[in-house]
Amino acid sequence: MSVFDFIGEELQEIRDLGLFRKFRTIEGGVGSKVLIDGRELVNFCSNDYLGLSSNQSIIDKTLSILKKYGVGAGASRLVSGNFKVHEELESMISRLEGAKAAIVFPSGYMANLGTIQALVGEGDAVIIDRLDHASIVDGARLSGAKLLVYPHKDVGSLANVLEKAKEYRRRLVVSDHVFSMDGDIAPVKELEELAKQYDAMLMLDVAHSTGVIDTHFGEETITMGTLSKAAGSLGGFVAGSSDLIDFLRNRARSFIYTTGLPPAIAAAALASMDIIYTDSSYKQALWNNVYYLKKGLLSLGLDIGGSETQIIPVMIGDAKKAVEASELLFENGLLLSAIRPPTVPKGTSRLRLTVTASHSKSDIDLLLKNLKPVKENYIV
Ligand SMILES: *Cc1c(COP(=O)(O)O)cnc(C)c1O
Repeated sequence: MSVFDFIGEELQEIRDLGLFRKFRTIEGGVGSKVLIDGRELVNFCSNDYLGLSSNQSIIDKTLSILKKYGVGAGASRLVSGNFKVHEELESMISRLEGAKAAIVFPSGYMANLGTIQALVGEGDAVIIDRLDHASIVDGARLSGAKLLVYPHKDVGSLANVLEKAKEYRRRLVVSDHVFSMDGDIAPVKELEELAKQYDAMLMLDVAHSTGVIDTHFGEETITMGTLSKAAGSLGGFVAGSSDLIDFLRNRARSFIYTTGLPPAIAAAALASMDIIYTDSSYKQALWNNVYYLKKGLLSLGLDIGGSETQIIPVMIGDAKKAVEASELLFENGLLLSAIRPPTVPKGTSRLRLTVTASHSKSDIDLLLKNLKPVKENYIV
């Protein structure tokens, strides 16, 4: 008997349910290719949507800042870790989002945690879509506010929830803009109208939208995003009014009590955001691939849920079958992940495909060819 016995027991439970997670080790590769166990695979589960993480001009700019300022920021932003490049990045983000100001966190996860916690607390209500990202759920729980959940994109139910939430001091509605597991898009107009009608704050998480679709919302809407997906770097951000950003700088615990982003990483993000908003060719290449892949998936008769973007679920259902399918694809040179509970609701396990600007037509053809037997053998 040991106080740690529960760990072994819970691990066994996780394994029995087919939910055990383990690493795959990436040994190399750029763009759409990864090297694993000495084998080159086509990567269909990267969030590097525009291929900017290996963009040469971004790498060069990053290196020059790295040489100038060293590897780490050395302290939190409010102590001595605030470099000029952090401020340039924030002013770039605010301009691009059409907001008055912006603040950069070390990650998107931390941006959600800190922002939700700063905006609401005990006596308030935080209202989220059932399929919102885990970082929104965690931020909502940590805040101490009453957590209310409405069915996915169901604005009728949201209106009812908001009606009941009138008794709380403040209300905050948070939704993914592009949903991370389903690739569908939130009903922004309706959310903004309801927020206005019920005197609620609204925050939209554009983690999967930046560089992919437009992220300009109404003036009152708070934009939260990440620099680690299409921007190919690392970091999270919030854009909004000057007061909001001043407030977060003073109240967001995940901003205050952590070291600032390495200046070189901020420089990388700055260079990426510049490309995203001045050169539409990457976005165009991405969307060409989205259309080409979706056409192929639909002609195979696969169920891709409500996907409207570069995130495309291929619905399987059973968790173990989803894992077996991803292993078969792996054997055939394709890397894509099986997404299982608790990331998605029970019985909706799936292969989650993400297509990027880096994929070639032959990458996509290889995927389609190998999904044919998946449909025949793993989807009942
Ligand atoms: C990935 C993601 C985050 C977290 O961003 P990181 O920068 O990776 O921490 C937040 N929200 C959504 C919807 C995401 O998909």
